Amino acid sequence: MRRLVSAVRRYLAPKAAVLMYHRICDPEADIWEIAVSPANFEQQLQYLKAHHHVIPLQEMVDRLAANKIKRNSIAITFDDGYADNYLQAKPLLEKYGLPATFFVSSGNIGQETPFWWDELEQLILFTVRLPQTFTLEGQSEIDLKEVQFLSSTLRHKHTSWRACEEKPPTLRAKLFFKLWQQLKPLTYAEQQEHMQRIREWAGFTGETKPELKSMTLEQLKDLGQNALFTIGAHTVSHPALAFHTADYQRRELTQNRTFLQEVTGQEVSLLAYPYGNYNEETLSSVASLKFKAAFTTEENRIQKQANRYRLGRYQVKNLPFQELSSTFHPW
Ligand SMILES: [Zn+2]
Repeated sequence: MRRLVSAVRRYLAPKAAVLMYHRICDPEADIWEIAVSPANFEQQLQYLKAHHHVIPLQEMVDRLAANKIKRNSIAITFDDGYADNYLQAKPLLEKYGLPATFFVSSGNIGQETPFWWDELEQLILFTVRLPQTFTLEGQSEIDLKEVQFLSSTLRHKHTSWRACEEKPPTLRAKLFFKLWQQLKPLTYAEQQEHMQRIREWAGFTGETKPELKSMTLEQLKDLGQNALFTIGAHTVSHPALAFHTADYQRRELTQNRTFLQEVTGQEVSLLAYPYGNYNEETLSSVASLKFKAAFTTEENRIQKQANRYRLGRYQVKNLPFQELSSTFHPW
């Protein structure tokens, strides 16, 4: 009987979740699986509108605090601040009247240079001709041999690579992944020092693919002026916070929030941790800076007694929603 009661309780528990998007576009390569095509995104919005209560993230947070989680509710979020959020996602969200929160890394707003991970991917995986050897700091020379030139087979191997699930399929992909691991925990200044060396080595010509850019200042401002949309914090330079001192973390958090508040005129009180990465010092900084809630990339739904500084989100895949039942309805 007790088992039956707890099963019924579980069934009746309100089901609420936060969805995480990054890019709405159709890129040639999407090794981290963070892009959803505009067509799939529109289908997903139609599905959400028909089957769920799509509520603003702030409302989800307020309801959690009041212990009044709305059954079957969903909040939509975007990380990083790519220009396609403004150009592709915004018009579709407006078309269906659905609210969303955009967590923006402010350091790249209006800049020519893309995020370091996107630039690294372009340089190592897609430069047509690379020098024959590369020397990793403190390690022996790597001979690129036959992958020095980007053949169509090699390009195809790179465009179809899923880095979260598969081992690097080529020597170039191995080099990319090693560098990615090496750069991720560093400070912004250190990352840029490495990137400069890699740009020079790869013979970078100075042209950035427009689809890798972040929003301009005007786009961010315009986004923030629409009542459907909330701007959230995502640090200045997108560091993996747990690898840095408490001071460094605090600077990244406060400077980002000040910038976003000044540009948008909105109070910024929600935060998403870059890479979902944080430690105890992050949690105490976030509390002392009076953020109302902070989000990870751990796939947990929003439920009673959830820690408001460790709220989970579900990364949305590039598929129509009826095919997503296992990931989209994890409960
Ligand atoms: Zn991010």
